[in-house]
Amino acid sequence: MDLLQRDEKVIWHPFTQQKNRAPIIPIVSGKGSLLFDNKGNQYIDAISSWWVTLHGHAHPYIAEKIYQQALTLEQVIFAGFTHEPAIALAERLLTILPADYSKIFYSDNGSTSTEVAIKMAIQYWWNKGNRQRKKILAFNNSYHGDTFGAMSVSDRSVFTLAFQDLLFEVIFIDTPTQENISELKSIIHKEGNNIAAFIYEPLVQGAGGMKMYNPYLMNELLNTVKEASIICIADEVMTGFGRTGKFFASAYLNKKPDIICMSKGLTGGTMALGATACTNDIYMAYVEDDAMKTFFHGHSFTANPIACTAAMASLDLLEDPACISQIDWLSKSINEFAHSLNNHPGIKNVRCLGTILAFELNQGKDEYLNTISKEITQFCLENGIYLRPLGNSIYIMPPYCINNAELCSIFEVIHKILTKFSN
Ligand SMILES: *Cc1c(COP(=O)(O)O)cnc(C)c1O
Repeated sequence: MDLLQRDEKVIWHPFTQQKNRAPIIPIVSGKGSLLFDNKGNQYIDAISSWWVTLHGHAHPYIAEKIYQQALTLEQVIFAGFTHEPAIALAERLLTILPADYSKIFYSDNGSTSTEVAIKMAIQYWWNKGNRQRKKILAFNNSYHGDTFGAMSVSDRSVFTLAFQDLLFEVIFIDTPTQENISELKSIIHKEGNNIAAFIYEPLVQGAGGMKMYNPYLMNELLNTVKEASIICIADEVMTGFGRTGKFFASAYLNKKPDIICMSKGLTGGTMALGATACTNDIYMAYVEDDAMKTFFHGHSFTANPIACTAAMASLDLLEDPACISQIDWLSKSINEFAHSLNNHPGIKNVRCLGTILAFELNQGKDEYLNTISKEITQFCLENGIYLRPLGNSIYIMPPYCINNAELCSIFEVIHKILTKFSN
């Protein structure tokens, strides 16, 4: 049996309707921006393998560090024990985060990093004896993960339909615009005392279609939220580690979050790891004689030493001036390309921030189940590029190591898409 037949027999893929599955591709190796399949074809990974890969696939520096750590200490229970990789990574994250945080709480993916944040914020009020602040404020069109808490604070969509009745109540508001900002503020004024926390994807709503919103108006909104003493949770799972051109998207905003969620690019996209940073004020609400005020949360692989080591190695590469200028070059190239697309009649809402470019095709509905997405993916694969549009939103988010020729191939295939799909 070949790989595909064996796969079909035993594997259930994520976000994939299993009946009449679209063709899937066995990948045997990766190098830099490239993925190689079992037939010898190569594909430029234009979306960094679901937004995680920063320095390219199979990076030898990270691989070597992972290997050495695996030979030294591969895993240890993190309650009652600690280790150098977890401590060193926490120390380092605290120095690069966009404001003052005092503690890092580890988990093992993006959804758990947001679950931890939400639970941390809700129990903060409970520990302080405030039984009124229980609600969460979130944005329409948001995405914070697939576990129940993360789903609850995410937009109600096809992703959550079957679970609708089981999700907890959330106050959803639109991202701020000139038109709605005063209405948003009045919602916060009215509900403020019932709200424990506000969770948001800073400046870019990823899974919601790479929608971007205005930083000045977000500052205004955050001002009001902070005045109402609501805990601000920035979900930087996608935007963190240089994606938006700055180390964290929150650096574009004046008002800093109380809690920051990280994953995806944290390990350069090599190992599963989640981290949630909090301010000292949040932390101190848990430092109590009362055992009931403990934060009862943890995962088997919390702070896995190999994953923490991978994150340290990724940060080594990320802080190298060569990588920083590469991010600048990539951001600039993407910006220029976005400008060149601006007046194209077949598309709308061309937008970019840092290394992310997105736009919508006029054709087809703006919804996730739009089948045009699969057709475009297939077309791009035939042209040696891996793209995975969200409905009719086409976006790219390449690894930072991409070279000029590869980037030009992505731009070329986008032009081909416009010719083929946008009339
Ligand atoms: C991907 C993502 C998550 C979920 O992360 P997983 O590791 O897939 O569980 C949460 N928040 C945002 C903003 C994301 O982009």
